[in-house]
Amino acid sequence: MERVNVVIAGGGVIGSALAMFLARRGVCDIQVVDLDLSGLYASSELNAGGARATWWQPVNIETCRMTLDFFRSQRELFGFQEAGYLWLYDDADRFERARSKLPLQRDAGLDVELLSVEAVTDRYPLLDRHLEELVGATWSPGDGLINPNAVRSYYRREAEALGVRFLNRHYLDGVVTERVPGLSGLRRVCAVDIIEVEGVDALDESGRLREILTTHRVPGEQRVRETRVSCEVVLNCLGAWSPIFSAKLGLRDVTEAIRRQICLVDVHGSDLATDADSAELGMIVDSSDLYFHPSGRGPESSQFLAGYSIPDEAPGFDFEYDGKEFFEEFVWPRLAHRSSSFERCGHLRGWAGLYAVTPDCSGVAGPVPGIANLFEAHSFTGRGVMQSYGVACALSERIVEGRYGACDLSSLGRERFESRDRWLPETLHI
Ligand SMILES: Cc1cc2nc3c(=O)[nH]c(=O)nc-3n(C[C@H](O)[C@H](O)[C@H](O)COP(=O)(O)OP(=O)(O)OC[C@H]3O[C@@H](n4cnc5c(N)ncnc54)[C@H](O)[C@@H]3O)c2cc1C
Repeated sequence: MERVNVVIAGGGVIGSALAMFLARRGVCDIQVVDLDLSGLYASSELNAGGARATWWQPVNIETCRMTLDFFRSQRELFGFQEAGYLWLYDDADRFERARSKLPLQRDAGLDVELLSVEAVTDRYPLLDRHLEELVGATWSPGDGLINPNAVRSYYRREAEALGVRFLNRHYLDGVVTERVPGLSGLRRVCAVDIIEVEGVDALDESGRLREILTTHRVPGEQRVRETRVSCEVVLNCLGAWSPIFSAKLGLRDVTEAIRRQICLVDVHGSDLATDADSAELGMIVDSSDLYFHPSGRGPESSQFLAGYSIPDEAPGFDFEYDGKEFFEEFVWPRLAHRSSSFERCGHLRGWAGLYAVTPDCSGVAGPVPGIANLFEAHSFTGRGVMQSYGVACALSERIVEGRYGACDLSSLGRERFESRDRWLPETLHI
């Protein structure tokens, strides 16, 4: 049987960032297993490319601030455009709450302004419709847009250069635990029911995850090969799939996988196509919760990316994109309602990916109580890329040093869901 130090389950942006940081902290023998490293269904490859630190929870602000500072340090490499986030409000109470968070955000070093509706029209002549509905806006010039694929590739490259092995087409299929009351033995992970339970070890106060079982297809062969790897530490970075893994360890996750759709809007028939300023816009979040930004930079770009979260979308692993219907029902009416420039635009294409959503819309990170060598980092809703560097930096320190350093993620631990007082509600979630 193969032996490694650390197995990271999931090679999305979070698993890759953790691999890099653990290797940088001197951990050797790290293996990342993923059923598809090209990320066809991974959220990391299906997202909207927004990057901001302007959240309402200190831990989210801090981890995103660290990540944005890192993006800023290598703008070219990550295609980081500090083009800002404009957030429009039509509800006085919500706007007041946004105003009340400014001191917190400014104390964290973020540049955030409140804009009157007149200031919005001055800065964004593009927004020329139904402004009487608005009560104001926030504007954060340090936020912006990122190329998420470049970020994940960077983490992986850096990790590989330090000896981390990324195993593609390896499906995490089972775990062997010991000293987990009632759960010891081999348990298949990704089947609906437990297929097999082998042997039971003596119970102890702290359970351990002893082995990981993966299956993978051998190139050129029909058969599927099973591999058992014994490991000292395991990290669950399976994004929206994390609860499936947790469930087989007897852990109840509160995360739900929820479909989110994005489309590309063709504006070549409108003034937006020829207006150089429009091509330099950052993210605009409309009061209707539609968000949009130019896709591709420069005056030649005639596409916008627009996303909208359909309220009450049922949880599930649904990757079906609703196509033109999504554009016509949810996107175009909202764009045209706010800007006459979108009166003439068309649907190009789009896609659906998964948000891993918790009840308070903050992520889950930290050690897993009851299983001494299991850690987790997942469920970052619509924030995983912009939080990746900060979360991985802090959690890798916790794993290696046994304690958090300057950035403390304790509040993101799964224990918070035991009591509602400890939830970290993020209402700026889109
Ligand atoms: C439409 C949309 C828009 C978004 N917009 C933004 C945005 O603007 N900015 C931002 O920061 N974030 C955004 N997000 C969120 C962000 O993309 C995610 O939070 C982030 O990518 C999560 O990364 P991850 O590594 O946790 O998960 P993933 O990228 O999903 O990676 C999980 C990996 O686990 C693997 N896996 C699953 N099951 C198994 C198994 N049994 N065995 C082996 N491997 C397995 C998968 O193949 C996958 O590669 C958006 C997400 C979506 C869907």
